[in-house]
Amino acid sequence: MPELLGCVAEQPLVDHHCHGVLRRDADEATLESLLTEGTGVPGGSAFDSQAGFAFGRLCPPVLGLPTRAGLGDYAARRAELGAAEVSKRFLQAAGISALCVDTGFTPEPLTSPAELGGLAGATAYEIVRLERVAEEVAATEGAGAGAAGFADAVRSALAARTADVQGVVGFKSIAAYRTGLDLAPGRPSDAEVTAAAGRWMAAAGTGPGPPRLADQTVARFLIWCGADLGLPVQFHVGYGDSDVDLHRCNPLLLTPLLRAIQPTGVPVMLLHNYPYHREAGYLAQVFPNVYVDAGLATHNLGRRSVVLLAEALELAPYGKFLYSSDAFGLPELYYLGSVLFRTALSALLAAGLHEDLYSERTAARLARMLCADNARRVYRLADQGIR
Ligand SMILES: [Zn+2]
Repeated sequence: MPELLGCVAEQPLVDHHCHGVLRRDADEATLESLLTEGTGVPGGSAFDSQAGFAFGRLCPPVLGLPTRAGLGDYAARRAELGAAEVSKRFLQAAGISALCVDTGFTPEPLTSPAELGGLAGATAYEIVRLERVAEEVAATEGAGAGAAGFADAVRSALAARTADVQGVVGFKSIAAYRTGLDLAPGRPSDAEVTAAAGRWMAAAGTGPGPPRLADQTVARFLIWCGADLGLPVQFHVGYGDSDVDLHRCNPLLLTPLLRAIQPTGVPVMLLHNYPYHREAGYLAQVFPNVYVDAGLATHNLGRRSVVLLAEALELAPYGKFLYSSDAFGLPELYYLGSVLFRTALSALLAAGLHEDLYSERTAARLARMLCADNARRVYRLADQGIR
């Protein structure tokens, strides 16, 4: 690893999009399944990848093992230390001062934002997933009869979430996963929402668990509800697991909606973006309220994240880019996101210094902006008493 610029190495990070970590120990199979968005390599290993090579290079030393320790030895050492100690080591080594935790995806029990913050030694905030709130409302209201009250019930549920003391600082839309990003820009009327909710609830029937929301009208309604509450609205964009139709997740598909939201001034946060990070950078340049990151891709691209960050910042103003790990389940992913981002940022700023594009003082200011200050400003974290 090349030596980092001091201003990058010492700067704490604000991770504006991440998830909880597992409460249980991770064995070899769990490590394989959570390393990437893939679901296995028949006859091979997910670790034979850029993400795996970065993991082998960087993670074992944090647990007191030699670089590139075998996966069996690694899992054994993990079990010996226990999940809490392993999480604490990686999260603290990541150098994070604040976390904005998406609590809407919990296929198995994960740490709460407060627990995650405690492990990391950071202040934790919550991002509320819009679709999850709508699904909970639908499950409570029941099929058919509840459609008329759906819009109001969702509005008050979201307002209640932002009013509580847990520090909700934004919303997240996973329309990309459910309908794609080619969304009509207008705000749907309550009558349209009632009709759409009725169709959705009837189709979902009375099966167990909340009904899965995949309706364009309801998705748009939720996004406008988030904007009405004045908090930043995050969008899943680009790279994700096989549940996503990637070709429907190009952020350029959001252009009409971004144009419609612009007059409200509500920040729109485009998450991950890969392989459309250049398109996202364009949107961040031309829309004053659009911000971007390169989360998830950073650790999946491993050493190529140097190129990723350079491309993401070709057009995006440096005041519009945020750090995110999009770590989920494994604390190692927080650490990999942090180290690889710092490595890429340091290389980018060092090249700029070498080419005399800016002074050292400016490089230090840019590092503060990209690592933390942009996120603090957009999510108004300073108002929440951080640091
Ligand atoms: Zn994500």
